[in-house]
Amino acid sequence: MARVYNFSAGPSMLPESVLKKAAAEMLDYEGSGQSVMEMSHRSKIYGTIIEGAEALLREVMNIPDNYKVLFLQGGASTQFAAIPMNLMTKSGKADYVITGQWAKKAHAEAARYGQANVVASSADKTFTYIPKLDPSTFTKDADYFYICMNNTIYGTVYHELPDTGDVPLVADISSCILSRPIDVSKFGVLYAGAQKNMAPAGLTVVIVREDLIGNAMDITPTMLNWKTHADNGSMFNTPPCYTIYIAKLVLEWIKNEVGGLDKMYEINKKKADLLYGFLDSSELFKGTVVPEDRSLMNVPFVTGDADLDAKFVKEATENGLVNIKGHRTVGGMRASIYNAMPYEGVEKLVEFMKKFEAKNK
Ligand code: PMP
Repeated sequence: MARVYNFSAGPSMLPESVLKKAAAEMLDYEGSGQSVMEMSHRSKIYGTIIEGAEALLREVMNIPDNYKVLFLQGGASTQFAAIPMNLMTKSGKADYVITGQWAKKAHAEAARYGQANVVASSADKTFTYIPKLDPSTFTKDADYFYICMNNTIYGTVYHELPDTGDVPLVADISSCILSRPIDVSKFGVLYAGAQKNMAPAGLTVVIVREDLIGNAMDITPTMLNWKTHADNGSMFNTPPCYTIYIAKLVLEWIKNEVGGLDKMYEINKKKADLLYGFLDSSELFKGTVVPEDRSLMNVPFVTGDADLDAKFVKEATENGLVNIKGHRTVGGMRASIYNAMPYEGVEKLVEFMKKFEAKNK
C-alpha cells in the first residue's frame, strides 16, 4: 500500500495515526462490541465521546467558559444563513469584508435578512490580498462584523484582526481552525466546517459567546437557532456521531502527539516557509498572493502558462502528489498543507517542483 500526499483543499488528509486508531476500533469500540458508527447517540458510551471531544476542543483552543461549543450538521454554508438569523436582530445591520467566494456567499445570504454592508473587498485584484481596514468606515451600530479568516481558494489570511470595538467579530475559520493558537475572547462567533483540519466532512463547529445566543429572528428554523443546540448539548437531534469521534481522535493527536497548538503552528510555519521560500526563488513558479497576506494552509501558485500548469498537475499526480490543481474558478495550482500534511510531503513537493522547473524552463 502506498499512501499519497494529498494536497486537497478539503476534505483533506487526516493524521495516519488517527486513521489507524479508527481502523483498530472499527468493529469493537472499547469492548462495546460495536462500531462508533452503529451506536445510539443517546448511549452512555457515545456520551463519553461527544463530551470528550468538546472538552478537548476547549482545552486545545483554550475556549473561555462563557462560550458554547456546538457540533452541528449542514456544513459551514448553512451558517451563512444561521449567522444573520441569530445575530441580525437589534439594528438589523452587519458589516462584511469580501475576501473571496466564501465571504461573498456569506454576505449574499445575510443580505436576504437585513442590511449587509460591504466595508471592503479585494475583488479588484482577484482576492490576492486582504484589504486594509479603516475602523472609521465601520457601521457603529452593526449587530456584528464578519470576516472569512483564511480564504481557502485564494490563499490569503488575516494576520491582524480588525478592531471592531463592541461590535461582535464573527469569523469563518473553516480552513485554519486548529492550525495555530487563536484568542477566542476576541470573537463573538467562530465557526468552521471540520473537513480540513479536524475530521472528515459532516461536522460544523460553532463557538459562540453565550450572550449572543437566544436572540434569533422569529423566522429562524428550529434547527438553525443556536439556542436549540446550546440548550441540548448538540443532542437536539442526531449529531454527526462518527465525524465527532474522528474529531476527538484528531484533537488527541494535536494534544498528545503534536504537543498543542503552539507546536502545531511552529510545524505549519516551517512547512509554509519551505514552499513559499522555493516559490520566491523559482524562475518558473510564482505564488499569487502578496507576501504579507499569505496563508499557511492554502498555497496557490502558477507558471503563467495554462498548458504547463496542466502538465505539472498531471506529472505531480503520477508522482503521488495529488489534488494539487487550483480551484476551478482560479486555475493554476494550489497546495493545501493542512495540519495532517507531514513536512516530508512538502519536501517531496518542492523537490518535484525543482525537477519540473529544470526540465521545463
Ligand atoms: N468557508 C470556507 C473558508 C471554506 O473553505 C468552505 C469550503 N471549502 C466553506 C466555507 C463551505 O463549507 P461547507 O462545504 O462545509 O459548506
